[in-house]
Amino acid sequence: MSLDVMALRAQFPILSQQVDGKPLVYLDNAATTQKPQVVIDALVDFYTNCNANVHRGAHHLSDEATRRYELARDRVAQFINANRREEVIWTSGTTESINIVANGLVQKLGTGDEVMVTEMEHHANLVTWQQACKRSGALLKVVPIHDNGELDLAAFDSLLSPRTRLVAFPHVSNALGTVNPIRQLTAKAKAVGAWVLVDGAQGIAHGDVDVQEIGCDFYAFSGHKIFAPTGIGALWGKFAVLDEWPVWQTGGEMIADVEYLSSTWGQLPNRLEAGTPHIAGAIGLGVAVQWFGQLNSADVQSHEQALLASAMEQAQCFDGIRLIGTAAKKVGVMSFLLEGSHPADVGFILDRQGVAIRTGDNCAQPLMKRLGIPGTARASFSIYNTLEEVDRLFDALRKAKMMLA
Ligand code: PMP
Repeated sequence: MSLDVMALRAQFPILSQQVDGKPLVYLDNAATTQKPQVVIDALVDFYTNCNANVHRGAHHLSDEATRRYELARDRVAQFINANRREEVIWTSGTTESINIVANGLVQKLGTGDEVMVTEMEHHANLVTWQQACKRSGALLKVVPIHDNGELDLAAFDSLLSPRTRLVAFPHVSNALGTVNPIRQLTAKAKAVGAWVLVDGAQGIAHGDVDVQEIGCDFYAFSGHKIFAPTGIGALWGKFAVLDEWPVWQTGGEMIADVEYLSSTWGQLPNRLEAGTPHIAGAIGLGVAVQWFGQLNSADVQSHEQALLASAMEQAQCFDGIRLIGTAAKKVGVMSFLLEGSHPADVGFILDRQGVAIRTGDNCAQPLMKRLGIPGTARASFSIYNTLEEVDRLFDALRKAKMMLA
């Protein structure tokens, strides 16, 4: 079996548009994925037929909104194999999910405690811990990477200690495409008694995420990286850990009993979900994971690997391309530099030819500094991309090379 890519493409209305008279080639999927018609329809249907606040009104619309919203939680819980539906906390995305954990951690850490991250972090999974350490007096340790973009596992081992209270790392690097050995890293961190947070922003759409099998305490991800709307995501956490994690925002929905001078908190998931949530977004995320979950994950991965292999092969034969990130285990992300030119200029010329890529520091400034580069151009592939589109990328790059020479 293989993916019926043309049938998939037909479900994404945005992909059939032209840019400057050229068919759009959308290769910026690591920044955000496009949305299939079923997700767009779910949003339109929610606002057309059942818009109401959840968990509140004793009326038909509110009941229906609540039913759809909580069904979405079930779908996400099932998609990541959560043990209990209450372990899925709606957030605005990965960034907020990480901040919830960091905010609680500050209350648990003190001088002498350590937090570990890696050199390949997105700012969301670095600055948040850096600031949490500043606030709590804990020490932040940074695990180095090898030049090819793989994590230095020996250094990971030597930096771990009984003082390590939390270890955070990306499932997949957004800048390099490296897939980290998250089960192995988690097992090592758990052996010293640390909490483990996996930044799943780039991992969620590339394979089977089974949070119980990973063994981590927290898995954070954004809906928009997996065909769902922006502004919605989830923090998954082990029930026992979340249940005693310090509350984040306070207000409506998250309380049990309120007095003027004191309050008590509600049960999970509500205790970590204050205020009116992004109801339509959550419903859209539920639909997106159900839709994506119906695809055969081996087919998804082999299609993505075929796109990546074609891109890496063409890049290796392309005089003047320097690949950034050549780990043995990678998702469909190709970061590169066109020698003698700035990534922003490359991106601009590609855009004129309808090819959308990301350029810049990839929200990973310290990583760019570590690699000694100002930024990269990055093409990232998704299930609806084709081998012909990879060829169009390289046609566009040949043109860019000529123009920038
Ligand atoms: N971590 C990684 C690895 C990412 O790629 C991203 C998004 N680029 C984030 C965190 C932050 O995600 P969001 O902006 O959706 O909160």
